[in-house]
Amino acid sequence: MKRPGVKRKLAELPGRMLLAALFGLALTQAPAFVALAQGAPQAKSQAQLPAQSPAGSLAEAYRIIASKQFVDLTHSFSPLTPVWKGFGPATFSAGADPATGRPYTIGKDGFRVFFYSMVGQYGTHIDPPAHFDLNGQTMDQIPVKQMILPLVVFDMTPMLKTDPNHALSVEDIKAWEHQHGRVPAGSFAALRTDMYKDWTADPQRFKRAPFPAWSLAAIKFLYEQRGIVANGHEAMDTDTTPDMKSETWLLKHGHWQIEVMANLDKVPATGALIVVSWPKPKHGLGFPARAFAILP
Ligand SMILES: [Zn+2]
Repeated sequence: MKRPGVKRKLAELPGRMLLAALFGLALTQAPAFVALAQGAPQAKSQAQLPAQSPAGSLAEAYRIIASKQFVDLTHSFSPLTPVWKGFGPATFSAGADPATGRPYTIGKDGFRVFFYSMVGQYGTHIDPPAHFDLNGQTMDQIPVKQMILPLVVFDMTPMLKTDPNHALSVEDIKAWEHQHGRVPAGSFAALRTDMYKDWTADPQRFKRAPFPAWSLAAIKFLYEQRGIVANGHEAMDTDTTPDMKSETWLLKHGHWQIEVMANLDKVPATGALIVVSWPKPKHGLGFPARAFAILP
């Protein structure tokens, strides 16, 4: 909740100036730094990235990243989106004052909030190891460094023409490597099936079973032989079969995954980065996540 006021705006100034000053330093723009630190009129203009910045600097990395195309890999979710019948739909209601039960409104209170009620595994979401493993890592324990990773995409759509519920095999991965090179250690491996297109167009079809997914052998191969950090897919589950063998194996071996991803058809097989983040409920067992790709 925010109530903008003069006091608050003044309180924010030093922080903003500090940030601007740090930014100025990073860009080795000494005159700009002095101007920002003094609160001169220039402080109001947006910091400009120079055409040249020191190689290996964050400023250089940001200049490169900002010039790239980004692809959102996340579905919007609502009470109407597909969910496993064992969980049931979300509800979004107007957040209310617990003392009176009266919902907050912009007209009366100057602000409004939603009260969300849903299972953690809703929409595009993270499954941390603890989802299946009593002693597994919870969401808050996964290192933030794992939230930005090289992204590889296995496009299974050609195989689905003859085998609509194909399970990606080790042979499929080796054929992919023949074309694209070895799956890099430390990467995020995503499975493209295009079933994300049914999410809004045909939610009933989206929830179909069986559906195309991973084989257990492929999941084991990627984690054990290639050293991937995480995997992701468009379906609500990891396996083509109801036994959940692949999902159980990966979560019980300390790995995490993103389910119900979108737009993997807009990302190349290699060369992109994925950024994926989620809220930090203490000992959280799953939550809607936000994932996007930065294209090469
Ligand atoms: Zn899940």
